[in-house]
Amino acid sequence: MRFQRQRGTQDLLPEQARHWQHLDAQVRRTFASFDYGEIRTPLFEDTQLFVRGVGADTDIVQKEMYTFLDRKGRSLSLRPEGTAAVVRAYLENGMGREGGVRRLYYLGPMYRYDRPQAGRFREFFQLGAEAIGSAAPEQDLEIVDLMMTVLQELGLEDLEVEINSVGHPGCRAAYETLLRRALEAEQEALCPTCRERHVHNPLRVFDCKNEGCRAVAQRLPLLRQHLCEDCAAHHAAVLRGLDRLRLPHRENPHIVRGLDYYTRTAFEVHYPPLGAQSALGGGGRYDGLVEACGGPPTPAVGFSAGIERLLFALEQTRPQTLPSPRGAPIQVLPQEESARLAALELARELRRAAPTAVDLSGRSLKAQLKSADRAGALVAVILGAEERERDEVVVRDLVQGAQASHRRELAPQAVAALLEQSGERR
Ligand code: AMP
Repeated sequence: MRFQRQRGTQDLLPEQARHWQHLDAQVRRTFASFDYGEIRTPLFEDTQLFVRGVGADTDIVQKEMYTFLDRKGRSLSLRPEGTAAVVRAYLENGMGREGGVRRLYYLGPMYRYDRPQAGRFREFFQLGAEAIGSAAPEQDLEIVDLMMTVLQELGLEDLEVEINSVGHPGCRAAYETLLRRALEAEQEALCPTCRERHVHNPLRVFDCKNEGCRAVAQRLPLLRQHLCEDCAAHHAAVLRGLDRLRLPHRENPHIVRGLDYYTRTAFEVHYPPLGAQSALGGGGRYDGLVEACGGPPTPAVGFSAGIERLLFALEQTRPQTLPSPRGAPIQVLPQEESARLAALELARELRRAAPTAVDLSGRSLKAQLKSADRAGALVAVILGAEERERDEVVVRDLVQGAQASHRRELAPQAVAALLEQSGERR
């Protein structure tokens, strides 16, 4: 019986894993430069945390969670997103005790029972950040600036922020009444889900991908025109700040984001070269979430982005920024069984100069050289029978094709000299 990976999951092979590692390292540098510290939370949590934190009416909670009972009958769920768990950890570890703003970032797998398709997986990775403790519009701006910097430092250019305000529960409630009324007149044109949704969660209609619903959305009253004074002032301050920080942006009144806990600022970052799926991620303010998770009223704002989407964007449009799929620059090629241990010994010394691989496949020299070449190696050290008798090895320059014999103990020096030359020639 051969097993296959589960639908919507991926194996990350070494060549892609290198891209991942590059992204991981670069992103951590950017987060550190903004003084955000990493937080790692478990992959599973009490199901209720997500029901509360993401929202009982959301697609994520209603249709997409991996929920199971453990051996004691407790309902647990694999995390579908990062924020709810970060807030749980913030409260559980008393991270708000000292006052001030806690700046946190995360990077890791998320799980959603989505319909797998191009760019949509059931296990996918997100990176994100949360700033917990400030209601200032400048904190929203720091988060947008952080997300844009993360993406720019990876090499993505011409990014655009699409931004909106979803108000606070007060102004939203009044607006939702209006919206429900407008939606009632549009029942025929809505998809079945939206027809149901419009009672509990009318704003979701703006999030629906159905064409009929999108057409309806164009005719609906907009929340932006019904914001209370405070929310309107907050939004205006964010827009002014985006200008001042020269972050390219445009207002998009249809951004409501898929999650329930957003208040005021909601935004997405788009990368137009990706076409239809140009959203790399987004975020917003969620002033109600900490309280919904049992804490004191605490304002917060954050963002998240999909790592597969980022890597796809880089591979498609900026491949030169990614590490090349080269193997080890030094390859040691023993030509007989009795030379293998000597090869391992020599490799230990050579690794001081550069990554070194030993070919233990037992194939012919020709086949070994071909593999070394294909892997992009620069230098091969051949341990043949004849040279061994004279305590010598052959050092071959794989870039130029020239080779020479050296005394075994001088081999590391010869290899290092050659590496330096080929490094310069490249
Ligand atoms: P969300 O948490 O739904 O706001 O998604 C934020 C970002 O995560 C999206 O813009 C995508 O880049 C990524 N993302 C969300 N769901 C998936 C998925 N099923 N597969 C891959 N990436 C995803």
